[in-house]
Amino acid sequence: MFRVGLLAFLDRSFAVKLLVSRDVQPENSIVRVGDVAFGDGNFVVMAGPCSVESEEQLMQCADVIASSGGQLLRGGAFKPRTSPYEFQGLGEEGLRLLALARERFGLGIVTEVMSEADVDLVAAYADLMQVGARNMQNFALLRALGRCGKPVLLKRGPSATLKEWMMAAEYILASGNPDVVLCERGIRSFDSHTRNVCDIAAVPAMKEMTHLPVILDPSHATGRRSLVTPLSRAAVAVGADGLLVECHPNPDTALSDGAQSLTLDQFRALMMELPCRILKS
Ligand code: PEP
Ligand code: MN
Repeated sequence: MFRVGLLAFLDRSFAVKLLVSRDVQPENSIVRVGDVAFGDGNFVVMAGPCSVESEEQLMQCADVIASSGGQLLRGGAFKPRTSPYEFQGLGEEGLRLLALARERFGLGIVTEVMSEADVDLVAAYADLMQVGARNMQNFALLRALGRCGKPVLLKRGPSATLKEWMMAAEYILASGNPDVVLCERGIRSFDSHTRNVCDIAAVPAMKEMTHLPVILDPSHATGRRSLVTPLSRAAVAVGADGLLVECHPNPDTALSDGAQSLTLDQFRALMMELPCRILKS
């Protein structure tokens, strides 16, 4: 009896036409971040350090990203670390450094917001608000981002199904914000050879179901620098709308995610291979 009731409930909730679905909107959504557009066939590269560590570190990254054709600068100021004893990010000082890099190099900035309480603060600096994998189902945060007036980059949770990921995006759209970009960043599975297991099929699978742009983060998906360029090529091959890539002037000294961060020379070499163009509109 209970099972029948539960199934009926699930059927009803999925029978609702989702705002994120191609049933409601068959054509691709175009999400604009300043003069950069996701979803119009353009391949957008967002790159930068995992964590903003210092002015020198961030400016060195921004210089190389801007001069090699990257469109947006990433950098974490509020870091979701597994251990509370690890570097937690520079907080607002990190946001100020990102804004300085935007001013100097003309790159829009993407940075993570971890809590509903920080939405206004982060929105005052960021051009694209990142929701980290660990927060994909923080529904209060998603609703607040629906009202924040900035586009959102929504990462897939490490153990989220594609349907759960779609529903998380639905929270943002249903709260009034149509500008959502989805980011596959690997899922948890049985093989620890790579940090996560890169679900490359998720990119075209999501694009079949939703009109929202879908990008790949090959850095968190693999955890290993040597695999970032091959997976970036895969992202292009499967029709991703872009990449989120970590790079660092000296990865061995990085305060977070050094093992998966490209050197700046490696990043430059990657950019030579990618079909990027800066879209001015
Ligand atoms: C990040 O982008 O640095 C990050 C913390 O990513 P994720 O939420 O995918 O682990
Ligand atoms: Mn990282």
